[in-house]
Amino acid sequence: MSTIQEKNFTQDLLTKLDDIIVDFVAPNAARIDREREFPRENITELGRGGFLGLIIPQQLGGLEAPLSLYKETVIRLAQACASTALVYVQHMSAVSILLYGKENDYIKNILSNIGKGQCLTTIALSEAGSGCYFFLPVSQVKETDKGLRLKTNKIMVTSAGEADVYVINSKATFAKNSMQSNFFAVASEYNGIEVGGKWEGMGLRGNQSAPLNIDTYLNKQMLIGEEGEGFKITREALLPMGQIGISAVNIGIAKAIYNESVNYVKKRFYTHINTNLSDFQSIQQMIGEIKVLCDQAETALNVFVQRMENKEVDMVSTLEVKVMACQTVLQVAELGLKVCGGHAYSANTPMERYIRDSMAGTVMGPTPDVLKELIGKIVLDVPTQL
Ligand SMILES: Cc1cc2nc3c(=O)[nH]c(=O)nc-3n(C[C@H](O)[C@H](O)[C@H](O)COP(=O)(O)OP(=O)(O)OC[C@H]3O[C@@H](n4cnc5c(N)ncnc54)[C@H](O)[C@@H]3O)c2cc1C
Repeated sequence: MSTIQEKNFTQDLLTKLDDIIVDFVAPNAARIDREREFPRENITELGRGGFLGLIIPQQLGGLEAPLSLYKETVIRLAQACASTALVYVQHMSAVSILLYGKENDYIKNILSNIGKGQCLTTIALSEAGSGCYFFLPVSQVKETDKGLRLKTNKIMVTSAGEADVYVINSKATFAKNSMQSNFFAVASEYNGIEVGGKWEGMGLRGNQSAPLNIDTYLNKQMLIGEEGEGFKITREALLPMGQIGISAVNIGIAKAIYNESVNYVKKRFYTHINTNLSDFQSIQQMIGEIKVLCDQAETALNVFVQRMENKEVDMVSTLEVKVMACQTVLQVAELGLKVCGGHAYSANTPMERYIRDSMAGTVMGPTPDVLKELIGKIVLDVPTQL
């Protein structure tokens, strides 16, 4: 594609995305949060617009869009509805893994259905045994006469009971440790895969991150890539895609808080002193601080994505980007609460939803605290498991 064609392609897709956001994602957001409803209509519309296959190569039925467009898509979705954005991000993280199986007809067919907007996928990785270290599974597949036996519980799976395909990890048959792992693509209706509860998280209430109980026999065509290649796929694809996705969700939430805060302080008028809230210097400073924080985190993500597109990233910057976004959204949420006061603290206001949603990034693996420790280890030349 020439530069002009690329620009038009990006602009056309962003216009289509904005239409979906205005017509569906934004009007559905409060209800999704209030009713803990899965954002089905939003995902259907994103599928229709080609967004489920955004990063899939055209020869496999996708749009083959650049990562910068993926990042922008997630930020805009999260500004309107962070639950929808997270469902989309976990889907795209799963897609980045599925692409390692593109030579296998079974997986190629899944990718083609995703490109057609007819298949939602997700990552089913976290286990009680390794918690937020979801890339180090404790469960192990065993070779049997009936197939590859897998018995495990995945503790939180976004889109559980809603996705069409789960990307599941486990230790390989021959594994001596959790780094020798596999990824499998398994249809949600496959025997022995059951949703094990309800999602009742404090925020991101529509994302249905429920447990998944797995007690099944898989077959070899479900294996993505080679046996034992899971950790390599994690490093090369899942980790950077996940970091971009979760960072973009949190930056989107931070920007939503910024917009809501600006609107509130501009409108809030004290009749007893005939003064607007925006007339106070300390409020002006807090709004300024929210703006700087949002811009810093977004700039860092933009630079990271650009470096990824140029294949120039190193492990430290890959780990850093999500720490910055997750720390930023918490700082912004606290400032947003201060400037919007009781309005922000009241149930069923957008601000209250954003504040609840802002907390999830801190507990989602690999968590910012774990990432900081890993960064420290790399800087200090202490061996890591990455
Ligand atoms: C909204 C949401 C969606 C999710 N979606 C998915 C999904 O789609 N698929 C999936 O597989 N999982 C998903 N998860 C699970 C998630 O990624 C984590 O695996 C899970 O939250 C870990 O929970 P835990 O209680 O076991 O954490 P624990 O592992 O018990 O960790 C508890 C705390 O200890 C801290 N901690 C651990 N090690 C260190 C250390 N070395 N230094 C300092 N602090 C440390 C962590 O930062 C964490 O805050 C989701 C979680 C949430 C909240």
